[in-house]
Amino acid sequence: MRLKDYYAPTLKNTPSAAGTASEQLAVRAGLVRKEAAGLYHLLPLGRRVLRRLEDISLKDMEREGYQEVMVTGGREAVGKLAAEIKSYKQLPLKLFTLDVDYRGNAKPSFSLSGSRGPLTLGMYHVGVKDPVSPIKHLKTFCHQIARKCAVKARWVGAPSGLDGARQALVLLAASEAGETGFVTCPGCGYTATVEAAEFSRPIPPAEPALPMEKVLTPGVRTMARLEEFLGVKESKTIKTLIYHVAYQDRVEPVGAMVAGERAVNEQKLAGVLGADSLRLATKEEAREVTGCSTGFSGPVGLKVRLIADPEITGMVNGVAGANEDDYHLINVNPGRDFGWHQMADIGMVREGDACPHCREPLQFARGTGLGRIALYGETWSKRSGAAITGEDGKEAPMELVFAELDLSRLGAVIIEQNHDGNGICWPAATAPFQVVLVQVKSNDAHHSAAAEALYRQLADRGYTVMLDDRDERAGSKFKDADLIGYPVRVVIGQALERGEVEVTARATGETRTVKLEEIVAAIEKIIPED
Ligand SMILES: [Zn+2]
Repeated sequence: MRLKDYYAPTLKNTPSAAGTASEQLAVRAGLVRKEAAGLYHLLPLGRRVLRRLEDISLKDMEREGYQEVMVTGGREAVGKLAAEIKSYKQLPLKLFTLDVDYRGNAKPSFSLSGSRGPLTLGMYHVGVKDPVSPIKHLKTFCHQIARKCAVKARWVGAPSGLDGARQALVLLAASEAGETGFVTCPGCGYTATVEAAEFSRPIPPAEPALPMEKVLTPGVRTMARLEEFLGVKESKTIKTLIYHVAYQDRVEPVGAMVAGERAVNEQKLAGVLGADSLRLATKEEAREVTGCSTGFSGPVGLKVRLIADPEITGMVNGVAGANEDDYHLINVNPGRDFGWHQMADIGMVREGDACPHCREPLQFARGTGLGRIALYGETWSKRSGAAITGEDGKEAPMELVFAELDLSRLGAVIIEQNHDGNGICWPAATAPFQVVLVQVKSNDAHHSAAAEALYRQLADRGYTVMLDDRDERAGSKFKDADLIGYPVRVVIGQALERGEVEVTARATGETRTVKLEEIVAAIEKIIPED
């Protein structure tokens, strides 16, 4: 391609301070244009990057023996296809889709997607028993694609059970601006999203249970104030939150108890209750249950379904609201002074909580979701009738290992993890063009002829090449080359008189002057053949 005729509108400055580094660079380098919040047009360079990601996915999936299909309805559709299979010999069934994900689940963060939604690679492995190896295999496979794109990412435990999935994991790229919080254990490597994270509750020191007392605590509505006012430790305070819980056939208020300033993990609470949805009760709804203002509710004498976090049930001489304005109860002892309908892990993890496996303090980090993997078992196979009669004559349900990779998001994360102050540094595998030829003197016939010859030589070798033959100052051509981020820059300038050109690696900035006949060797040093 010739840049003179190519639509790559670069901008010297960032059009607005808003957005992440990847969004700003994609706009400046002429990959995308913003239409409205969360809506972009992919320009030729941006579309080429997405095309590279498609190429990688296609090639690698076929190498792994997966066959491409276009289906409506994702997992359900694959279930129906699998239901036609009658023999073990036809399993595993390995299919993939490479399509725009129309679900339009609002992902506000920037990605290389057109207005219709992100381009997504969906992977379906249908088999019986042993789901462990396909899970392991697809995890590695997605990792390898990320590595080709010079993206650092890790699989992290995610909440399961939401859509009938078991063993759900998400692929997260480390990013401070990421939308997903997760914990990691420096001791044993345990990792999970904050919604899925488990942790060990501290064991309170033994002490004799004292008689419960009601104390005046005027205006003390928050846990922090309560600790200050009564001089008790946070680990001894019982927070009781009233939720408005909706089931398929009814609504019901539910009390959720967690210790101190810990938040309730609403996703886990909904799972424990088997609820369709839930939200915190309004002040008025809560008052109907507790008879008091927010901040003075407690479990003693409360006539609703109560769910207690294990941190509560082990407490001795705790403090709780008295269900009466301006009063609290001290020396509250679970089991003696109140009961609960169910004990369940509903407390939200906090930084420094103990790892459930080795008790090291957990650390917090943030990441951008690139994909996920999950196992769908009996619920899925029953719905679609995907079962097989085994040699023993018994019917065995099939299992689906489903993975997906958001290629549009991956494109944005490549930029986020591979850029410097001058622009993008594309890894060779996903660069819109791998080599840019910068012709310094655009109106010199000798230089033009040399540029033409080099262009053809490199294109014949299989490189994707952009020839910058614009009538611009050399400085602005170099700036654009850095901004767009071609992995290799070849400068045809004064050294041409000696039969030489300058070759620069974008990622390292290293420049070498090489003879024309050595150019391929010099480029191969920067872009190794895969
Ligand atoms: Zn650990």
